[in-house]
Amino acid sequence: MVASRLRDLFGVPERKRKLPDPLDLLVATILSQNTNDINSHRAYTNLKGRYPDFMALADARPREVERLIKVGGIANKKSKTIVAVVADIKVKFPNFDRKRLRKENTNVLIDMLRELKGVGYKTASCVSLFALGDDDAFPVDIHVHRVLNRIGIAHEKTPDKTYLAVRDSVPKGKGYEIHLNLIKFGRKVCTAQRPRCFECVLFDDCEWNEKTLHAEKRALPADDKKVEFMLLEEV
Ligand code: SF4
Repeated sequence: MVASRLRDLFGVPERKRKLPDPLDLLVATILSQNTNDINSHRAYTNLKGRYPDFMALADARPREVERLIKVGGIANKKSKTIVAVVADIKVKFPNFDRKRLRKENTNVLIDMLRELKGVGYKTASCVSLFALGDDDAFPVDIHVHRVLNRIGIAHEKTPDKTYLAVRDSVPKGKGYEIHLNLIKFGRKVCTAQRPRCFECVLFDDCEWNEKTLHAEKRALPADDKKVEFMLLEEV
């Protein structure tokens, strides 16, 4: 129900033809924490310029990595995490490539990746979904967590707990579509501070006890607002 409503609203997101390298994606996911896309990308580009093969980061000095990724924020912590995780990968997954990793079942692989220092459910499932092209993976970030709990599909306090509660209920092969559409919905409609409940296509199914309060904040004709919303720029 939720997936089909969001598909009506946003369509089916297209996958890029070329999947990113799993290690590149893993490092990029760590760099994306607590910053915006622009600064995260700058940090990634700086790091890639100095270390074209990220496996070499296993022997890097965290101080140098910190300098390179400073633009992305909390560089002190991220640099240590990146060096530690790549060193760990070098020992546990000498062939950290798509062919090797895809041999595993989705949940088994995600649990294996979580054994790496600094890798949580979100990073592990992002690697699986985006770098391995595994459409059974379903990363839960802060947007997905918020929306699923407001609607009432989950009743959990953290993204990791929400992930564990829903991961086996996501329809097979639909992780990419549902993940991206929920993020888009969480950024544009079911936002953290001022959710647009007054124009929400999930209003009737949503269990959030504050939805009526937010719906009353802007009582405009639903059809007009839906058109306006569809014209908002893409994420
Ligand atoms: S009704 Fe409001 S809280 Fe519920 S899903 Fe829609 S925007 Fe989010």
